[in-house]
Amino acid sequence: MTFETLGLHPQILQALTDAGYTIPTPVQQEAVPAAIAGRDLMVSSQTGSGKTAAFMLPALNKFANEPVEARPGKTPNQNAQAARSRGERPRFMPAQPRMLVLTPTRELALQVTTATDKYGIHMRRVKAASILGGMPYPKQMQLLARNPEILVATPGRLIDHMESGKIDFSKLEILVLDEADRMLDMGFVEDIELIVSRTPATRQTLLFSATLDGMVGNIARRITTDPLRIQIAGASARHENIEQRVHFVDDLLHKNRLLDHLLRDTAIEQAVVFTATKRDADSIADRLNIAGFAAAALHGDMHQGARNRTLDALRRGQLRVLVATDVAARGIDVPGITHVFNYDLPKFAEDYVHRIGRTGRAGRNGMAISLVNHAEGVHVKRIERLTKQTIPVDVIEGYEPKKTTSAARPRPGWKPGDGRGKPGKPGQRTFAKPGAPRKEGGHRGQRDGRSTESRRG
Ligand code: ADP
Ligand code: MG
Repeated sequence: MTFETLGLHPQILQALTDAGYTIPTPVQQEAVPAAIAGRDLMVSSQTGSGKTAAFMLPALNKFANEPVEARPGKTPNQNAQAARSRGERPRFMPAQPRMLVLTPTRELALQVTTATDKYGIHMRRVKAASILGGMPYPKQMQLLARNPEILVATPGRLIDHMESGKIDFSKLEILVLDEADRMLDMGFVEDIELIVSRTPATRQTLLFSATLDGMVGNIARRITTDPLRIQIAGASARHENIEQRVHFVDDLLHKNRLLDHLLRDTAIEQAVVFTATKRDADSIADRLNIAGFAAAALHGDMHQGARNRTLDALRRGQLRVLVATDVAARGIDVPGITHVFNYDLPKFAEDYVHRIGRTGRAGRNGMAISLVNHAEGVHVKRIERLTKQTIPVDVIEGYEPKKTTSAARPRPGWKPGDGRGKPGKPGQRTFAKPGAPRKEGGHRGQRDGRSTESRRG
């Protein structure tokens, strides 16, 4: 299947050729024709599977195929000018977007806007703008005054503008919820409902999520009409191009020594190190800098400017190691990231899938290495159960754990490896055989009143 067979406008096809896309990804193959046909969608598909184009191409296609006269009239700026030329005082006009994309984070919103500009590069008169917390107010007013057809926004800031009459959603045609599960996790549920309530019932609604289980499924059913359900791969996305490893560590000192050692691997182009806390992200980045790595932290307490500078440096290859928290690193798409390290295991197994998806982008291979305390074996098991994959345990000569739990103990005949062998080679114990029956671990995490179990895809 090609993009031509999806029925896209020549201007869009040209942009896709420019971008080097040759064939649509599976989620694009299913979602694009259905969305062009006007269907509502509920889509679950793994990170990196091309969801942005899956919702943006049909929307751009709709705008590209319209006769010029059908396009909405003047921008608020033009109206104001016209009023002035008539000697009248310009009347304030709210922006009336035709498409709204809601995303959980600012980074993701900027990525969606950048992708939109890329896919729409040959289309004149379609403007996309992001409205984000942390962006200076005059800048936002300037963006809204251009009356962009497409708004990409995080829910909070959008509501400010909605309530103060700067944005009017009564002409909205397409509503997209990107990473809906994460928006709910972040507590945006009421914001989303409020925004949805201000949009016309005739809108087309496209919802994308890692999972459609639990609360996100409920919301999805409520805000869509006769939706087509597309499930490419649940949260158990296999990430087959990403090699995974677990290293057991005895204590923090051991963990830090091992991380320093692993980061010296010359196969690493760029790496993301995930930490549980913002404070750890800062202190580990500082420590790595002192140890001679080009490292920086990325977390939600940083100002937007600092976050953007860090991400730019990462994209330009000036940073080799990014030390980040889950939320801040969500959606980072930098092909140079060859390795992901879990300095701390994520609290929720699904976050593991999102984390390791930061590597192996754009069809490349990746490596994901978790540094795990002996007591955390149960968390590894939970991840294995979610991903339906076993994660090989690796041991590096000179960095062996002193404690040898059954999981960490190499088999007899084990030879010290370089830590970069193929999964499943002799001497590497894995936690569980695929499909083996297992008992449920004791811990049941709660978040937003739901158990972790219900979030599984
Ligand atoms: P998701 O939202 O599912 O995580 P993205 O939309 O961010 O995925 O896309 C992931 C990467 O794949 C991006 O770098 C994007 O440019 C690229 N990509 C998307 N669709 C295609 C395609 N059909 N061919 C090649 N690359 C693609
Ligand atoms: Mg995405």
